[in-house]
Amino acid sequence: MARQIALVGIGKIARDQHIPAIAGSGAFSLAATASRNAGVDGVDGFSSLETLLAARTDIDAVSLCTPPGPRYADARRALLAGRHVMLEKPPGATLSEVHDLIALAEARGLTLFATWHSRHAASVAAARDWLAGKDIRRVEITWKEDVRRWHPGQDWVWEPGGLGVFDPGINALSVLTAIHPRPLHLSAAELSFPANRLTPIAADLTFRDPEGAEVTAAFDWRQEGPQTWDIVIETGAGTATLSDGGARLSVDGTEMSAGPDREYAGLYARFAELLANGESEVDLSPMRHVADAFTLGRRVEVDAFEW
Ligand code: NAP
Repeated sequence: MARQIALVGIGKIARDQHIPAIAGSGAFSLAATASRNAGVDGVDGFSSLETLLAARTDIDAVSLCTPPGPRYADARRALLAGRHVMLEKPPGATLSEVHDLIALAEARGLTLFATWHSRHAASVAAARDWLAGKDIRRVEITWKEDVRRWHPGQDWVWEPGGLGVFDPGINALSVLTAIHPRPLHLSAAELSFPANRLTPIAADLTFRDPEGAEVTAAFDWRQEGPQTWDIVIETGAGTATLSDGGARLSVDGTEMSAGPDREYAGLYARFAELLANGESEVDLSPMRHVADAFTLGRRVEVDAFEW
């Protein structure tokens, strides 16, 4: 029987992805929502998670789709109320918040799942498998999109904790950390802040690889026209291109893997598996690289940004 789940923060990603993924999952059934200004037709709706948790003690799993700023308080509230928790990316506004949630979930014997949807893109596993054991010489990430198209009017992305261009950039880092065969660390960064905003609109990152591969990432939110979410990896055995955010993999121009978008179906299947096994999954490596970029990055001021 499908497990009852509650969704918190009925906004863009809840409507685009979570609601359809839950409906199609078989493992879960959407039993309630908590959102200040929105709800889902035919589903028990509450204006806060607090009231939902008090009223619906039958629901033991909660999926948080709010922006990262308010996420910690709700995640903590849900865990303290004995509910399992799934977190949208990034898992919080700070690393320490998430460490606190990890400890709390562990102490209470609850599942905490910090999701990275891009890791479930159709060709990420194929890229990881193809790269295993290869002599990697160069990795070049290009993640350039139009913020007006993907985050229309979402002012939280420009607030502290909203990450700016790292909101999509962290997706690239979640893929990099899933496919690169060894841990990397950031060695240099340049962050471009619009004169009137508090988070960067572009970032250029360089990583140190213990075996000497040259690893760089360029994130930009000012790209109009075609959008680019590519990772090119040069190895001794050919050049792999993981494109369309991880959907397609080609090697030296020959397509090796491609598939439809089932990222959120993959996330809910994984949450069901973790719940069945009584396990948690929280990999903070993508977020650590972003935190390092903010501590190490050189800040430059660029043109003001208006929607
Ligand atoms: P959103 O639509 O701006 O926010 C989701 C909902 O959260 C809002 O509609 C709002 O609903 C609620 N909320 C609660 N506290 C809020 C606050 N302080 N500021 C703004 N909204 C608040 O955002 P989203 O695009 O769905 O993104 C949510 C999370 O999903 C982010 O972490 C993002 O990185 C991730 N994500 C987004 C996308 C995408 O394409 N947009 C893709 C993948 C992942 P109420 O007003 O009804 O409470």
